[in-house]
Formats: sequence, C-alpha cells, structure tokens
Amino acid sequence: MRYSGLRVIKEALTGHRGWGPVWRDPEPQSSYDFVIIGGGGHGLATAYYLAKTFAKSRIAVLEKGWIGGGNVGRNTTIIRSNYMLDGNEPFYEYSLKLWEGLEQELNYNAMVSQRGILNLIHSDAQRDAFVRRGNAMILNGADAELLSTEQIRKEYPFLDFDNARFPIKGGLAQRRGGTVRHDAVAWGYARGADRLGVDIIQNCEVTGFRIEDGICKGVETSRGFIGAGKVGCAVAGSSGRLMAKANMRLPIESHVLQAFVSEGLKPILPGVITFGAGHFYCSQSDKGGLVFGGDIDGYNSYAQRGNLPVVEDVCESGMALIPALGRARLLRMWGGVMDMSMDGSPIIDRTHIDGLYFNGGWCYGGFKAIPASGMCYAHLLATDTPHDVATAYRFDRFRRGHMIDEKGMGAQPNLH
Ligand SMILES: Cc1cc2nc3c(=O)[nH]c(=O)nc-3n(C[C@H](O)[C@H](O)[C@H](O)COP(=O)(O)OP(=O)(O)OC[C@H]3O[C@@H](n4cnc5c(N)ncnc54)[C@H](O)[C@@H]3O)c2cc1C
Repeated sequence: MRYSGLRVIKEALTGHRGWGPVWRDPEPQSSYDFVIIGGGGHGLATAYYLAKTFAKSRIAVLEKGWIGGGNVGRNTTIIRSNYMLDGNEPFYEYSLKLWEGLEQELNYNAMVSQRGILNLIHSDAQRDAFVRRGNAMILNGADAELLSTEQIRKEYPFLDFDNARFPIKGGLAQRRGGTVRHDAVAWGYARGADRLGVDIIQNCEVTGFRIEDGICKGVETSRGFIGAGKVGCAVAGSSGRLMAKANMRLPIESHVLQAFVSEGLKPILPGVITFGAGHFYCSQSDKGGLVFGGDIDGYNSYAQRGNLPVVEDVCESGMALIPALGRARLLRMWGGVMDMSMDGSPIIDRTHIDGLYFNGGWCYGGFKAIPASGMCYAHLLATDTPHDVATAYRFDRFRRGHMIDEKGMGAQPNLH
C-alpha cells in the first residue's frame, strides 16, 4: 500500500479500516543467500539496500526481539555530519544526503527535520578547534557556519551566556543537521525491505554460527538452523557477545548510554544544542518534551538501564547551560547498550571467516549513520569490496595504527 495525503483522507472518512500490517510475519526458510543478524536500523537498512540498490533476493533479517526494540528506538534522534577526519566526514556527509531523500525513497514519514545543530564554544582554544572542524566540513561538501555570541543570543536567549566558568563565546552551526523520528526509521526500512521480498523474522535469536573449513555456512537460531550464502552481523551493543560465538574478540566494549525526556513544554528550543564544556546536549521533540542526554555510564554492561551518577552529571551540565531546565519535570529516562570501539569510529568489514561480515562499533553516534551504513554494508556484502566512503572502516586499522580518532565528536571509551 502506498501512503499519500489522499489515502489518509480516505481512511479518515471510512473509519481507518483499510490499513493493514506493513510487513509480513514469515516463517524462516531453511536457507537464504543473505542473512542479516539484527533488526535495528543498520540491519534493516542493509537488507533494504541489498534488495533495492543491488537487486539481491533471498534475504532475511533475524531479530532476537522485535524490530526497533534496540538502540534504533532508544536514541536521541540527532543527525549531523559535523565530523573532521578524512575517514569519517565523507561517510557522514553521504549519510546526511541520504537522510535528505529518505522519506521519498521509502514513501514513509520519518519526520526528518533539518532544524539545525549548534555546538557551543566556551574558550578561545575551542573556537580554534571548531573553526578547523568547520573548514574540514566545508572542504568535504558539508555546510558549517561559525556563529558569534550575539547571533546565538537571538536564537537561544535563555542560555546562561555569562556563566562564570563556562561563558558562551560562539558556536559552530550545521543548519542541515537535525532530528528524525527514530522508530519510524526502523519501520520505514522494514516496510521498504518487506515490499522487496525481504523476510523479517522477529523473535529469532542467533545462538551460534556453523563454520566449516573456515567458511560460514549459516546460523544456529532459537528457531533452528538457517543456512546462508553470506552472513552480515549488525547487532550494535551486542557485537562482542555475538562475535564471541565465532571465536572473535573485537576492539569493542559495551557501555550503557542514557536518554531523558521532560514533560511537554511550549516551543523553546528551535534546534539541537550541545554544551562544549560538559556532557549535555538537548533538542525539543514535536510533542514538546526536551530530549537530552550526556555521557556513557563508565563501566562495561549489557543492561539496558543506567545509574544515578550519570543522571546527576547530565543534569548538572544541563543546568549550567540552561538554568531554566531546573523548572522542568523529568518524564522518562532509559538506557541503551553502546558498542564503543577503541577509536570511537565504526567497522564495516569482512572477517577472517569466509562468508561472515561485521558491522558495528557505532558508539553513541550510529543513528545518523544508518542510511550510509546500510548502503555501504550492502555494497560490501553484494560486491565484496568496500564502498568508496567506507574504505577506512576496516578491522586492520587497529593493527596498522591508522586509527580514526575523532576527538571532540566521536566517543572515546579510552578516556572514560
Ligand atoms: C540513549 C541513546 C542516545 C543516542 N543518541 C544518538 C543520537 O542522537 N544520534 C546518533 O547518531 N546516535 C545516537 N545513539 C546511537 C545509536 O542509537 C546507535 O549507534 C544505533 O542505533 C545502533 O545501531 P542499530 O540501530 O542497528 O542498533 P539496534 O537497534 O540496537 O539493533 C541491533 C539489534 O540486534 C538485535 N540482536 C542482538 N543480538 C542478537 C542475536 N544474537 N540474534 C538476533 N538479533 C540480535 C537486538 O535485539 C537489536 O534489535 C544513541 C544511543 C542511545 C542508547
């Protein structure tokens, strides 16, 4: 079923009886050409582009729970391409361009909102660093704008500009950044993939790999063995646990990241802002809630819930930037499990086992990467060669010492 304004009006006039399920609930087949493990944003996007762009068929996505139940439905929905390093910026800019056409591509309202992102500057040294970042962004075809304190004051008058410890001395803006409704991304890709014949199999946990003579032949699951020509892993925070079943030890640690939503307020925040002197960033949802977050919980965990010291840290940083935040009531908070790579950058690569591929290490920035990651992973699975914008995301960078250490914008578990 195609969605359109006319369709919505017709359904509204006929009691909304015409809407059907938007993806099937198929039984797993005995084998597929491509099995993608993980029904999060990355897994679903990969399946979609495999079918759509690379015209592959016999594809399944295996999800241990329900699609959208992982980080794709738990994040704070920010998209941007304000990276600096060569390995990263072309990839994230490509992703932002795919976001810009995603709703037309999927015929699905994912609420892509380019309301802008603003990184605040609190010292002269930080301004120098942000000018350099902005220049790198522009050289890579992205947009970047250095704002003065007065310009920011016009848009965000309620910030604590003259805070004695963290005065606001300007900001780096990316107007094309913004937010996207996170779970609609999972649903949109799932619907698109299903329409192209991909089997999305929920409640199907992969419990092991069948590897014979160095070749991956398929996966053991809670619903039996499923044979596969190629197996693509995309399980985000569960990467370490999954790949251990193939006897692989990854340069990845799992940490919890928490998110917070306040009660609904009248419109106050036009875009996304990040505090440059502490762990805090904030946007306002279309329902009015302030959506904010900060640092990871600093210990390894697979629990999808966080602890109070980080709540205190995030709220302290928030109050230092927006004193009025103290008047808002917190409505909800939750945690997700992040796959923190040791340089803060991701991996999209083959493994040493033939037929087994890996996508992970997205740290706390993998939502914005979903379209490009799906496209690049599909490219790798379909052609066995890396996509042009993902050539740096190889396992061997840790052995060769060619880390993509994106200080300031990437996550750094080594500093926690
Ligand atoms: C609080 C929070 C805020 C964040 N904010 C942002 C942000 O603003 N911007 C941004 O870019 N990124 C953000 N992120 C990061 C982003 O959400 C993740 O990097 C990204 O969603 C991870 O990829 P995914 O969507 O594929 O993961 P997931 O949705 O977690 O998908 C992985 C799936 O694999 C499944 N799985 C695991 N093991 C198995 C198995 N053995 N068999 C079958 N299935 C399995 C899981 O159930 C899960 O559904 C945030 C994350 C959190 C937690």
